[in-house]
Amino acid sequence: MADKRDYYEVLGLRKGASDDEIKKAYRNLAKKYHPDLNPDDPKSAEAKFKEVNEANEVLSDPEKRKRYDAYGHAGIDPSYGAGGEGGFGGFGGFGGFDGGIDLGDIFDSLFGGGRARSSSPNAPRQGQDISMSMNIGFIDACKGLQRDIDISRHEICDVCNGSGAKPGTAPKTCSECNGSGKIRYQQRSMLGMIQNVKDCTTCGGRGKIIEQSCSGCAGHGRIQKKRKVTVNIPAGIDDGQILSVRGEGHIGANGGGKGDLNIRINVKRDPFFERNGFDIHCEIPLTYTQAALGAEVEVPTIDGSVKLTVPEGTQQDTVFRLKGKGVQRLKREGRGDELVKVIIEIPRNLTKSQKELLRLLDNEMTSKNFAKRESFFDKLRRNFNQ
Ligand SMILES: [Zn+2]
Ligand SMILES: [Zn+2]
Repeated sequence: MADKRDYYEVLGLRKGASDDEIKKAYRNLAKKYHPDLNPDDPKSAEAKFKEVNEANEVLSDPEKRKRYDAYGHAGIDPSYGAGGEGGFGGFGGFGGFDGGIDLGDIFDSLFGGGRARSSSPNAPRQGQDISMSMNIGFIDACKGLQRDIDISRHEICDVCNGSGAKPGTAPKTCSECNGSGKIRYQQRSMLGMIQNVKDCTTCGGRGKIIEQSCSGCAGHGRIQKKRKVTVNIPAGIDDGQILSVRGEGHIGANGGGKGDLNIRINVKRDPFFERNGFDIHCEIPLTYTQAALGAEVEVPTIDGSVKLTVPEGTQQDTVFRLKGKGVQRLKREGRGDELVKVIIEIPRNLTKSQKELLRLLDNEMTSKNFAKRESFFDKLRRNFNQ
């Protein structure tokens, strides 16, 4: 354990950080490094994810934090191995988020575990977030859309109203721990005898005993429910952004609030358009004749195709700007532009007579027709005295 990083450093905090700062930093980092949200490099994300969890496990527990602050990693080492990493041993196992697979249990063990034991078992606890991803089309991302998604989440059991006890009965206070949910005990460690606390086994740390369980939720007070949630995806959202829908996550325990539903947006590639900020880039092929003579051509935009007048003598890579045809600015007024780049196609597979006609045409051309070539040969003559 000598090469472990400082837990505050892991969470990007200073030593005196408040409980709130720890909670916030942990939630942000756990989301950031969640292996499923890092498909490009799941291995290193997983390592960071574990590190962040471990840091939180200690710093969010007042007892462990006190010992860590005083003695560093050695202060929590004796009792650490057991509780520290148990929750997330088998990470490789769970696959994609797609299609609303519920991660409630995993997030429970992440967000619930450490903190749950540190506070009263009856204290209200905020519900966990649900994370998933969603694939949407390019144009839908530009213009926004509404979509119904299926999720599965913890909700209050409507049979017992969350008490876990059979209707008509009530939970009893645990006599073993007098309702605190915790048992104090002495433990020998490398630092001498230390006072330790563990969950009361009689009541499972809840402080209450339910003698007759509710049949709807088997005494948990919460049940897993499938729900259809209508999500408004705002116009202008970009690939990789996370849309947070407040209050659509799991219900908390003991009257705590609901978590959020966090949706990572994956925008599919489009055959015509590429996005750059709120501008859209698009290429159009022109024949060399259209480029030389000028033409009216059809250009795709996210609102359908529009006519663009290409002037006579248009050169390769010329970019035309279609004002206001880009992406809606996210949660703001106005749209970006569409930038249309000209790609001039040189004809191939010419027939004999086509070639003859081209040669005839070429003989008619003068230096006036090819300004670029003229200046090139001018420079060549000046530099090499030809
Ligand atoms: Zn129930
Ligand atoms: Zn108890």
